[in-house]
Amino acid sequence: MPTGLDAVYEELKRLQLEGMDRVFIEDRTMALLQPAPEPPHPKAPPVTIDLQSAVNSGNKPTELAPKPTPRKKAPAVTTSLPEAPTIELPSGDASTQMQWLQERVESCPTCKEQLRENEKIVFGTGSISADIFYCGEAPGEEEAETGSPFQGKAGDLLTKILGAMGLSRESVYMTNIMKWRPKHNKPYGNRPPTQEEMEFCLPYLKAQIEIVQPKVIIGLGNATVPGLLGADPDRKMASIRGSWQTFEGIPLIFTFQPSYLLFNDTMKTKRMAWEDMLKAMEKIDLPVSEKQHGYFLPK
Ligand code: URA
Repeated sequence: MPTGLDAVYEELKRLQLEGMDRVFIEDRTMALLQPAPEPPHPKAPPVTIDLQSAVNSGNKPTELAPKPTPRKKAPAVTTSLPEAPTIELPSGDASTQMQWLQERVESCPTCKEQLRENEKIVFGTGSISADIFYCGEAPGEEEAETGSPFQGKAGDLLTKILGAMGLSRESVYMTNIMKWRPKHNKPYGNRPPTQEEMEFCLPYLKAQIEIVQPKVIIGLGNATVPGLLGADPDRKMASIRGSWQTFEGIPLIFTFQPSYLLFNDTMKTKRMAWEDMLKAMEKIDLPVSEKQHGYFLPK
């Protein structure tokens, strides 16, 4: 069984790969890291640790209590999925087609098999005639619990970003490549989807795009790059972010996912993400005010 320390270590490693260099650690996480099961002090201040020292060259952070026994490697998550589904939309208007597709996805045996107790398939929400189509990686815990994409603090941030663009959640379409939350063997947290998982779900996403026919697609998060464009070790978010690509003949831009922005809330990162939103607005001829142009610029 993986321990809490294993889980935190793996998560830190993942975050560092995503480019994060600092993390906020909650009391409950600190409790998991303690060698003896002591309850956290109720007034214990949150701890910030340097991710570089925490995970560089695979070493555990020196600030954290060392465990006497060597760390057991958590077993890799293995999935074996059947061939991706073939989707042929029925004739009818967009609403009829989307209803049909949602029922098709919600009755997909493979998707249902992947759900844990109390988890739901996360199909997608918003306007089926939206100009902007937001595509995340995969549902997380809060999304799987509610059945809606982009919930919780990250979802609130996305709603705020949309507000700054003069848009609402209802005026855009939002979904993920994955329709289920990727399973993992950690006590909490989310796992990025594998290429195989994303390839299985891709026909569902393509059908959603075919129905909505957006003018622009915004890929949110690292995994959307290989998920939408195919696996290529030389093509990563860092090199491709903010430049126009195409998916299914539609202009596509990648940017950070909101949860990344929550942890990396520097003006520089916010400005980078905001510039991607401005590009999307300009692409669909949405007016951009002087004020909007200036968000997150140094004063
Ligand atoms: N929430 C989602 O629905 N998708 C993501 O990629 C991240 C958070």
